[in-house]
Amino acid sequence: MTMNSPVGSMSEQTNKPLVEISDLTVYFPVFKGILGKRKVGDIKAVDGINLYVNKGETLGLVGESGCGKSTTGLAVLQLIRPTSGSVLFEGTDITRLNDRELRPIRSKMQIIFQDPFSSLNPRMTVGDFVGEPLLVHNRVKDKSDLYQRIEELFKIVGLDTGMASRYPHEFSGGQRQRIGVARALALKPSFIICDEPVSALDVSIQAQIINLLEELQDEFHLTYLFIAHDLAVVRHISDRIAVMYLGDIVEIADRNDLYLDPLHPYTKALLSVVPIPDPAVEELREEVLLEGEVPSPLNPPTGCKFHPRCPFLMKPVCLEKKPVLKLMKGSGQRVACHLY
Ligand code: SF4
Repeated sequence: MTMNSPVGSMSEQTNKPLVEISDLTVYFPVFKGILGKRKVGDIKAVDGINLYVNKGETLGLVGESGCGKSTTGLAVLQLIRPTSGSVLFEGTDITRLNDRELRPIRSKMQIIFQDPFSSLNPRMTVGDFVGEPLLVHNRVKDKSDLYQRIEELFKIVGLDTGMASRYPHEFSGGQRQRIGVARALALKPSFIICDEPVSALDVSIQAQIINLLEELQDEFHLTYLFIAHDLAVVRHISDRIAVMYLGDIVEIADRNDLYLDPLHPYTKALLSVVPIPDPAVEELREEVLLEGEVPSPLNPPTGCKFHPRCPFLMKPVCLEKKPVLKLMKGSGQRVACHLY
């Protein structure tokens, strides 16, 4: 079976998705010339992807830096307007809404950024930072209501409420990320994009933040799109995982299918560097070394975009024909590769 849209037919889904992304593209035009007005091409950061995220689940989105993961996240939230395609949130195509119409929906969709240091304004107290969305969206009656809500949010993320009057530089990396999580929760969202939320943290702190995100998901029935380059982190928190390469989804599967039986050579390569605790499974694993770097999305390779780095390259088909996602298993595992 060959699928172009959407990835994962509706008949396979048990719930109506909270978020449904269809044929999403984000192209950034590149201009040259003396006046900088001559368009010479497009950076195809996201090149027609299809994904859904069911209510209450975590969809992991993995790939190397420069594969389009963060741009996808920003386009889903409409923080970058997509070039084409649709993003349905609770059934509404939010790509068609203007900024005023988007406002009430924006509060339901939040983001936790990669670097807790850069997402904190150093001149604001962390309490003001957490409470700011409540003021912007008129969610509090008065100052005492605001302070009470900020205190609640601090407690929810495991921070001492007395810390609210301090400044960002007084906190450790893990504490700052908790502050970022508290701000993301302020408007009681149903969907949160976690954009590499633990990459800047030590491994022991990473586990604490991941555990916190899981607890909050249970408590507040949250749905996550969890973006990361580290497959070990994604495995722990995700129900399903999509692998992205140069603007395309090349494989998507339940987390166990993806880890125990990866199909795409790129997925195998990403997994080759992730330790497997079970020696029997480790023994069976096919090692695929990932060489070179992600090519420029301004001039992506023809056919399969992974072909310059693929040890299983088949000529001429891989150079000429772009593979589409094919359903490989009843569990929904799909892969875009001419080997299958
Ligand atoms: Fe490798 Fe060809 Fe598959 Fe691309 S389509 S991943 S080049 S085998």
